[in-house]
Amino acid sequence: MIELVNVSTGYNKTPVLNNINLSFEKGTVTSIIGKNGCGKTTLLKTAARILKPLAGTVSLDGRDISRFPGKELAKMLSFLPQTRSVPNITAYNLVMHGRYPYLGFSRTPREEDREIVRQAIESLNLEAYINRNVRQLSGGQSQKVYLAMLLAQNTDVVFLDEPTIYLDINHKLEILEIIKKLKEMGKTIVMVLHDLANALSYSDRICLLDQGEVVIHDSPEKVFESREIDRIFQVSSKQIRVEIEAGSGEQKQYLFCLKQ
Ligand code: ADP
Repeated sequence: MIELVNVSTGYNKTPVLNNINLSFEKGTVTSIIGKNGCGKTTLLKTAARILKPLAGTVSLDGRDISRFPGKELAKMLSFLPQTRSVPNITAYNLVMHGRYPYLGFSRTPREEDREIVRQAIESLNLEAYINRNVRQLSGGQSQKVYLAMLLAQNTDVVFLDEPTIYLDINHKLEILEIIKKLKEMGKTIVMVLHDLANALSYSDRICLLDQGEVVIHDSPEKVFESREIDRIFQVSSKQIRVEIEAGSGEQKQYLFCLKQ
């Protein structure tokens, strides 16, 4: 479990978020939502130790994360940033990067590391382009390669900053299904998702930020019922139950429109 206690965080000694108290439970998917610039990425980076809080503590299973040696932390927590420079390496080597925290001084992968990488590639069906340069892959393909790298890193906690941004609907849903699979493996997923409908449908918990604070942190149902999304985004939302494919069972979906 990740816990933030009295955390204030921001840049150049100026807080973006104040006095945050939050915990992310094991085996759950949490989406952080809020208007542009409200501090979603800042919160994610602080929880993942990429940004040092101005005050307060972030702990992982009861231990202050600022005290973990880097390599040890990388075995417990992984972070997929939104923007990244695309390395000039093959997709296979990128997935192998996930194993670096586990390698010894020589940095030579062991048979066990190769096996874990093979399984990550297989479970995300990347075989067809695993030997291609990452720079030649489409957005959806390279996003899957990055997720395979996280699978290979095999941490209990996974932070994802806008994992579906710029992807078409097919790849978007595919990535969200992969995230569901990670959760089923017992991992704790915390992500920033700007698509509110997906955030409400795919998460166990929603954390809504506004004006430097957590407005509500609860189940999608409770957050929907609170009408805080409508207030903050100036929209009207509706929950519907639909059966998209015959026999697939009813699903809860959320619709949004501008407030009249
Ligand atoms: P969100 O992810 O919700 O869009 P961010 O966490 O990226 O918002 O940014 C929150 C605020 O912090 C914004 O006002 C942004 O301009 C500011 N900010 C983000 N990154 C930096 C930085 N590296 N240095 C200074 N200010 C920053």
